[in-house]
Amino acid sequence: MNIHEYQAKELLAKFGIGIPTGYPATSVAEAVEGAKKLPGPLYVVKAQIHAGGRGKGKFKELGADAKGGVRLAKSIEDVEKDAGEMLGNTLVTVQTGDAGKQVNRLYVTDGVDIAEEYYLSMLVDRASGRIAMIVSTEGGMDIEEVAHSTPEKITTITIDPATGFMPHHGREVAFALKLSGDLNKQAQKLSKQLYEAFTTLDCDMLEINPLVETKDGNLLVLDTKMSFDSNALYRHPDVEAMRDETEEDPMEVEASKYDLAYIKLDGDIGCMVNGAGLAMATMDIIKLNGSFPANFLDVGGGATTEKVTAAFKIILSDPAVKGILVNIFGGIMRCDTIAEGIVAAAKEVDLSVPLVVRLEGTNVQQGKDILANSGLPIVPADNLGDAAQKIVGEVKKAA
Ligand code: ADP
Ligand code: MG
Repeated sequence: MNIHEYQAKELLAKFGIGIPTGYPATSVAEAVEGAKKLPGPLYVVKAQIHAGGRGKGKFKELGADAKGGVRLAKSIEDVEKDAGEMLGNTLVTVQTGDAGKQVNRLYVTDGVDIAEEYYLSMLVDRASGRIAMIVSTEGGMDIEEVAHSTPEKITTITIDPATGFMPHHGREVAFALKLSGDLNKQAQKLSKQLYEAFTTLDCDMLEINPLVETKDGNLLVLDTKMSFDSNALYRHPDVEAMRDETEEDPMEVEASKYDLAYIKLDGDIGCMVNGAGLAMATMDIIKLNGSFPANFLDVGGGATTEKVTAAFKIILSDPAVKGILVNIFGGIMRCDTIAEGIVAAAKEVDLSVPLVVRLEGTNVQQGKDILANSGLPIVPADNLGDAAQKIVGEVKKAA
């Protein structure tokens, strides 16, 4: 789960980490009110969307020479003008895709006198099975570009969970950022605080870009992105409350209500499968037969009629779907129960595309009989290979 910059900064501040003062706003009046609480004379008005690259982004509704989604304002009047231009409009950045994202929220913060911009991020590194800190002197820019053209400017430090964060990790971070004196000490302290925040909050990613050195010699987090391990959210109701569903894919939000694991993909064959491994295998075999899956969808162990119906609705609400492949193994859940669920769901959603169903497991024959006697144009399949061939064939035939 992702959160907004202003929320991430609120969380980091609780760990003693330095951030510029700022106030979130959902209206121009709130933005002005926030700016009045700041010392000035430099303010920054920042679009709050779940995507980076806002500074260089462009608003769809404004001209090509209009300013982007992070704006320096030199007076309260400018804050008012910028807030008015940004709220409600659509910001397109390198991370939003062409559709862009509507800006419904702003963050009005202190303008900072920047001496240097650095990069620091943390993530759970699957290769080493540890938390890694990635630091670079090249902050404020696209880190992928830095990694590509000047990889020697990026340092990765992994932290053994058995020891946790040790003083030498902090020294390595400060050294990689080429800091000396008091700034070096600040970097050591900051990296320790970040590790504590990361582990305490069950983050899976925390990126600070840029981390800045101010002209008066302080390290401040100027921009940050944070995401959390969804499986650990139950431990952090305060973080869960920060969820902003308007920033998420509406179909994925709907799926999460029914506890369905759904991820939209680019192909045209909708898949409904129980078990993540079987779902992966189903997607592979669709590809092997020359087509592409429109989604990954795991209905989980308890494939009830309610869940199956919700899954059908979600799959069918995707206009790219030209056919559906249901591949369910009836273990604890018997095939006849699943077949009843499929028939009820198919009737309720008024199925308009070919549907191939492969059932296997307990009471499979009863299940197949229910499908055959349903009066619905359901194409039965005997095994996974047969099922994939049939759905790819049906979709080609319908096209
Ligand atoms: P994004 O990464 O989405 O473009 P940032 O918050 O990193 O957004 O802002 C882009 C750039 O704007 C930063 O690299 C920094 O140079 C400048 N900037 C952002 N916030 C401030 C601030 N509070 N004071 C001064 N400059 C800022
Ligand atoms: Mg940034």
